[in-house]
Amino acid sequence: MAERKTCANPGCERKFTAKHNNKKYCTVQCSRKAQHKRSKAKKQKVFTSQMTATRGEYYEDYVKNFAPEVQEGLIQKQVVAELIGVDKSLITKMHEAYLIDKDNLEKTKKNGQHQKKQLNL
Ligand SMILES: [Zn+2]
Repeated sequence: MAERKTCANPGCERKFTAKHNNKKYCTVQCSRKAQHKRSKAKKQKVFTSQMTATRGEYYEDYVKNFAPEVQEGLIQKQVVAELIGVDKSLITKMHEAYLIDKDNLEKTKKNGQHQKKQLNL
């Protein structure tokens, strides 16, 4: 049975007639492109987690002394880089890690409050 479908390749989404119900893409090219995108996204994820796992020797110092100010826009990453004596790209990486840590910390806090509430009941 032929069926009208939308191509599952993000960015294509062309309407096509599928000869088989399990067909998801309008063309073989789209199928390949979508698979490529998926594997790329996977690699990106691995890269990010590896990067944040290695906070580095300057991280604590950065978080204590500079991260909040960078976040507020009070000081530029370039200036911090010069103060600590590292490359600006490291500051960018540390700031990214800082944001993730901050986010996790807030989540942990919220969970803690939630647990407390439950205990009071
Ligand atoms: Zn397509």
